[in-house]
Amino acid sequence: MTSYSNVLKPLHLGFTTIRNRVVMGSMHSGLEDRFYHYPKLAAYLAERAKGGVGLIITGGISPNRQGWLLPMGGTMNSWGDVLNHRLVTHAVHKHGGKILMQILHSGRYGYQPFAVSASPIKSPISPFKPRALSDKQILATIDDYARAAYLAKKAGYDGVEIMGSEGYLLNQFLSRHVNQREDRWGGDIQGRMRLAVEIVKAIRAKVGEKFIICFRLSMLDLVHDGNTMDEVLIVAQALEKAGITLLNTGIGWHEARVPTIVTSVPRAAFVDVTAYVKQHVKIPVIASNRINMPDTAEEIIASGKADMVQMARPFLADPYWVNKTATGRVNEINTCIACNQACLDHTFKNQRASCLVNPRACHETELVYVKTKKPKRIAVVGGGVAGMSAATIAASRGHHVTLFEASHEVGGQFNLAKVVPGKEEFHETIRYFKVQLEKNAVEVRLNTRINREQIEREGFDDVVIATGVVPRPLKIDGADLPQVLSYAEVLRGAEVGHRVAVIGAGGIGFDVSEFLLKPPSQPQPQPLADWQREWGVDPHANYISEGGLAPAEVDLPYRQIFLLQRKTTPLGIGLGKTSGWVHRAQLKKHHVRMMRGVQYKSITQEGLWVEVDGIEQLLRVDTIVVCAGQESVKELMPQDTEHTLAKYHIIGGAKLAGELDAKRAIREGAELAAKL
Ligand code: NAP
Ligand code: SF4
Repeated sequence: MTSYSNVLKPLHLGFTTIRNRVVMGSMHSGLEDRFYHYPKLAAYLAERAKGGVGLIITGGISPNRQGWLLPMGGTMNSWGDVLNHRLVTHAVHKHGGKILMQILHSGRYGYQPFAVSASPIKSPISPFKPRALSDKQILATIDDYARAAYLAKKAGYDGVEIMGSEGYLLNQFLSRHVNQREDRWGGDIQGRMRLAVEIVKAIRAKVGEKFIICFRLSMLDLVHDGNTMDEVLIVAQALEKAGITLLNTGIGWHEARVPTIVTSVPRAAFVDVTAYVKQHVKIPVIASNRINMPDTAEEIIASGKADMVQMARPFLADPYWVNKTATGRVNEINTCIACNQACLDHTFKNQRASCLVNPRACHETELVYVKTKKPKRIAVVGGGVAGMSAATIAASRGHHVTLFEASHEVGGQFNLAKVVPGKEEFHETIRYFKVQLEKNAVEVRLNTRINREQIEREGFDDVVIATGVVPRPLKIDGADLPQVLSYAEVLRGAEVGHRVAVIGAGGIGFDVSEFLLKPPSQPQPQPLADWQREWGVDPHANYISEGGLAPAEVDLPYRQIFLLQRKTTPLGIGLGKTSGWVHRAQLKKHHVRMMRGVQYKSITQEGLWVEVDGIEQLLRVDTIVVCAGQESVKELMPQDTEHTLAKYHIIGGAKLAGELDAKRAIREGAELAAKL
């Protein structure tokens, strides 16, 4: 067993010690912006501190109104703010954690009319054109940062993190991509970094020596006219001289067209960039992006590539990540699968964040699993993620749970998803649930297709129907021909030809297209060098290109694919806000022909007959894969519960196939189990 001694080693900063090398990185939870949410925010962060994390960094808090991400966003500029934040710092300190408040000025990413920037250039991801800050306004902004840090100290924070990456205000000043000023705040790198450096100096002067100042520096901009590595090093060294305590890694602007955190990005893909910067400074450096499991974290620290590892989403997925690592229970970690579906996708829709695999995240005071005083006998029918969520939580509360699964394995639809290239993390969720089933003594009966009479005969108190879905069949002439396959058959390994029509362009149509684009011999997960080549990322840690971009090289697709839908809207419009663009870009790069407004006519030996814009045409394909959604399987759910002895409940895809999604399935399982 690996001891993880490097990642668990304390970090001494002279005036203070962080108990291990693990940082919970900044992530907006949606609880930072309203004072009445602070008790919930405190409970959410306290649980992570209790779980052993060394250092927590809050979601971004603005130093002034121009810096708001959204109207009335969380700000630190008054004594009232100090009182709210004290709830948070006390809660974290009670459990031995340290906490920094992140000061984030959104600059031109602000979704509000007061947005400002280095130059008046609108970002592609916000409708508001920013005003360029005047010299006087820049000086006032520096004062606002210093005041926010001073107030953070009064609120009990151990320090602040200054957000200088991901394309926010300070990054906008640092890079030519937005900074086109000709005054002392622009021009060469000395001018462009002046604002960041002056902010650090002003904060240090205001808060004294014994207060952590962490700077999150964009080490790889991934946008055109971004900084070169030489420029990044000049900034890092100047910040060190100005008085920062820790240097954190930022990768890619939000508007970059290279994915940096989605599940298809290889684990620890950018750590060599951090390692290179670390060689040029003396202060501790933090690595980030796609680090989610202890082996990766340990390797980074042990190899000396970084002094700390930062994870944000993995702490939504499992608050006890560190304690489990420290006590030899790594296989109990609920791994973040980097799907973004309940965290960042919520944030970007202005909803409270949570986690697909852990619906308690950011709902710690509302979704509570208490030990039951009246243990019941509960049957859960269906071993997909909805069923396993219900079974494991009900059992952890003290109920006696039996899980019936018709197939030879648990996992349901996740067993299909895990074979899609870039979705290898789904294996981890299945592993997590299997361990939980065993740990909580759930009796699992595989290969058991139970019927109502058997359920009733066994005398359960409650029965949870989580029987999931089956693929919706296609109903046109020729749909029964052997070259017509369901997505489930394809993902289970059915033979597929080289010219393929995929019917249905929802999440699964996209997944299946990506699965078919790559030859079966393609290694999974994708090797880092292949991924960098495909997405145009300079593979050299000391890159000399601007922004670390390189020309992308895409292999010829293994198959020719037509992806079709009946709707006339653009394909993939309903995919996740923060990951959908990656899937669309991937298919486009591989020349998938996307067709909308398609009417399916018939299937013959020649291929698929369709009508588009009133014109009938033949798509000469040798395989047709049906990804036309699902239908619920719910025969076991009684129509009339008057004559049943047990109390029946229905969750997940069995309840509603139309919106089949894992986030809802796991949450419904958890919410039901919390109440049983
Ligand atoms: P879906 O998103 O509902 O898509 C089903 C597709 O089938 C639609 O494109 C629909 O488009 C088409 N369709 C529906 N009825 C049809 C019919 N009778 N004949 C022909 N086409 C028909 O479902 P899904 O792709 O199966 O995904 C299921 C769930 O998994 C979704 O909730 C999704 O969120 C989730 N998921 C997400 C991802 C991701 O975000 N990457 C990946 C996998 C799964 P038209 O009606 O326009 O033809
Ligand atoms: Fe990770 Fe997905 Fe949970 Fe976000 S929703 S924390 S990406 S598992």
